[in-house]
Amino acid sequence: MDGSPPITPPSPSIAEETAAPRAPRGAGAGVATAYPESVQRLIDNLAQLPGVGRRSAERLAFHILKSSGAEAAALAKAIQDVKQRVRHCPICYNLMDTPPSSSGATQGGACTICRAESRDRGLVMVVEQPRDLIALEQTGMYRGVYHVLMGRISPMEGVGPGDLTVSDLFQRVEDPARNSGGEPVREVILGLNPTLEADGTALYLAQELQARGVTVTRLARGLPTGSQLEFASKAVLADAIEGRRPM
Ligand SMILES: [Zn+2]
Repeated sequence: MDGSPPITPPSPSIAEETAAPRAPRGAGAGVATAYPESVQRLIDNLAQLPGVGRRSAERLAFHILKSSGAEAAALAKAIQDVKQRVRHCPICYNLMDTPPSSSGATQGGACTICRAESRDRGLVMVVEQPRDLIALEQTGMYRGVYHVLMGRISPMEGVGPGDLTVSDLFQRVEDPARNSGGEPVREVILGLNPTLEADGTALYLAQELQARGVTVTRLARGLPTGSQLEFASKAVLADAIEGRRPM
């Protein structure tokens, strides 16, 4: 027991309000509510998370209120740590914890995948997001290294190559010293999602990479168009890696 008084759910009129959505009064900000300011602020912040609406935010806030002080502190600490400790690998842009030595040197400060001597570092798989990398790693089928683009080229959303890690990819191909383990890049596999925008991105990358004299392949199309790598099954991803073909 942490000594705090028990917290009961909000009044039924709020907790059970499942019928008509709220009138368009704005998403809470500036609207007078019965919540104490600190609770309202927590709800407002939670409601900004993707996929979390007002009602879910309220539920989460009351779950946090009911949890022990230690549990709430652990959650707050996890959020803080992820912002303070997690960095992008300077070579592949995978997510990584800041090395304790904080050497900062390009090779020494790289992620565990880039530093693994057991991996084929002449083989680079280009993916859109760290989540795609995780999905591919879970197949256990891929022994090369990665390059995370941090998105895809999207003229509609005003995202060009300069907004992604494209120039770093080209530098890895041009200069072995910039690649994992200092090894020359032999083949680049385009592991982008089967969507229209990703196809455009893949075409652009293939042209630019081939002009730099590197073999470019793409994952086999076992992946249904419009699907996302991160949600594909291990078997489908493993087949896609095995059956990759030249661009
Ligand atoms: Zn890395």
